[in-house]
Amino acid sequence: MTMEEKESILVVEDEEKIRSALTDFLEFHNFEVTEAADGLDAERAVAGRRFDLIMLDLMLPKVSGEQLCFKWRNDGLQTPIIMLTAKGQEKEKVAGLNLGADDYITKPFSLEELLARINAVLRRTDPARAVGQTFRFADLDVDIAGLKIKRSEEEIEISKREAAIVQHFAANPNRVISREELYKEVWNETMSDLGTRTVDMHIAKLRSKIEHDAADPQIIKTVRGAGYKYESGG
Ligand code: CA
Repeated sequence: MTMEEKESILVVEDEEKIRSALTDFLEFHNFEVTEAADGLDAERAVAGRRFDLIMLDLMLPKVSGEQLCFKWRNDGLQTPIIMLTAKGQEKEKVAGLNLGADDYITKPFSLEELLARINAVLRRTDPARAVGQTFRFADLDVDIAGLKIKRSEEEIEISKREAAIVQHFAANPNRVISREELYKEVWNETMSDLGTRTVDMHIAKLRSKIEHDAADPQIIKTVRGAGYKYESGG
């Protein structure tokens, strides 16, 4: 994703006033907004295209926010969801999070608070937001858009896939990343025998480019039986 590309948000809210206020505010903050006025509208919108984030009102006509959230997660939809709940719906909030929402916010809320939540959720779920387009990775300077890595005067070219792998490790330092997770995050596929081989081959190739000694990798380490880990000193 380039920096110029707008992030898209689906706003699912039946109260027209709130919906249009949200849309105005989010468009002002440079998001691309799609509106849905009820649960069926929302289902159609999600079936038709990909969004970066969904803001989902809990109390909706036709199909409730809870039902939608449950159904989407059941179908494997990974788009982050922020639930909008009314005061006094504490129980539903917890249920919403259990159903797979990433966060919730209680009405009436301040728009600034909402924006902070949106940015936090997007940062958590999008490594590009978490680490930016250029960042430090061990003793390397990574330029994601340029598909380049620099080590002092040496310039290393990387593929898009390798860039996505580096980005995912950089966004998740000091944590064991399983092959399954990498395959899901970088290839957007569920794990298989082919997936295991594909991930290992790409890691080997990447190591041959960025490690001082690919036989004894120090940047992307192997964690036996678990996956890989990037250790960052901070
Ligand atoms: Ca409502």
